[in-house]
Amino acid sequence: MTLPAPSERAFVPFVSVANMMALIHEIGLERMLVELSDAIEADFKRWELFDKTPRVAAHSPDGVIELMPTSDGTHYAFKYVNGHPKNTRDGLQTVQAFGLLADVDTGYPVLLSEMTVLTALRTAATSAMVAKHLAPKGATVMAMIGNGAQSEFQCLAFKAVCGVETVRLYDIDAAATAKAVRNLEGSGLKVVACTSPEEAVEGAQIITTCTADKQYATILTDNMVGAGVHVNAIGGDCPGKTELHRDILLRSDIFVEYPPQTRIEGEIQALPEDHPVTELWQVIRGEAPGRTDARQITLFDSVGFATEDFSALRYVREALARHAMYDQLDMLADPDDPRDLFGMVQRARP
Ligand code: NAD
Repeated sequence: MTLPAPSERAFVPFVSVANMMALIHEIGLERMLVELSDAIEADFKRWELFDKTPRVAAHSPDGVIELMPTSDGTHYAFKYVNGHPKNTRDGLQTVQAFGLLADVDTGYPVLLSEMTVLTALRTAATSAMVAKHLAPKGATVMAMIGNGAQSEFQCLAFKAVCGVETVRLYDIDAAATAKAVRNLEGSGLKVVACTSPEEAVEGAQIITTCTADKQYATILTDNMVGAGVHVNAIGGDCPGKTELHRDILLRSDIFVEYPPQTRIEGEIQALPEDHPVTELWQVIRGEAPGRTDARQITLFDSVGFATEDFSALRYVREALARHAMYDQLDMLADPDDPRDLFGMVQRARP
């Protein structure tokens, strides 16, 4: 990645929601999911280079607002993101996000981007990249429980990255399932709408849970998860918000992004602090085993980590070099004499 030339420094490229959607259509959604999953995997391989901290969360009765910073020493990124499950009742998204990438040498921002759509892409790309390492070989059927904003992105990432052919959808709200069925028409996936979570998991080698409720929910009970299944648990990502019955955790080998954050936010908040988990970067680098036998239950306790957003912003910035889908944002003060900020303000007097 290179900074804009000095003559161009007075603006920061800004990717609006409209431009993000244009970029997706230009690149192709499935190709973008594959490329994003490669970018995320490549950064997991550079794990030790990143500054890592659990995200900074501001909780309120109905939701949470979080800041997710990280740096690889060359670039710095942060994402602002919320999670408000009640929002959909008022016609609002559960999750809204934006993010920034900056050059570490100068501290100058080099990209500002919407990240609501990009988060759905990066979450799906991460899930599928992880399943590539952990799901049973030859898995073609996935249960998708929770058919909200993230769900179609998840289904398509598993198709593009892992070769999933059939998705079995379930949501407590039948309208959400009907929406996902409509959206996935013509995608090449076989889509089965189910009327219970038990029906959805029938014959599925992969189970994705992606529900939103600010409580300890039990989306999957112990008897629903058979031997050999890979569980991709995305929705439990906040203190007091989980999706799986504790007994499933006790039968699973658990894989996490960054333990200090997942212990606070993930499914494993239901387990003692010292319950063993494997860090994904070790599996991705071949330094720890992933799936070792066909009957093992693997669980990706996904909460979403800052390096995944860093990777997504890095990918988008590189894509902008080929597809100029951004606005020029005037957010850098740029006086001719860098010490004459005051003079610049004076000269702007109407
Ligand atoms: P959303 O509100 O659009 O959709 C959630 C869906 O879950 C809704 O359709 C709702 O009806 C359904 N649901 C709620 N309870 C259910 C139950 N008991 N059984 C079946 N379905 C149920 O939310 P979204 O944007 O799709 O996000 C889903 C969850 O994923 C949120 O909790 C969000 O915080 C989380 N998330 C995690 C990551 C990550 O990286 N791990 C990233 C993005 C979002």
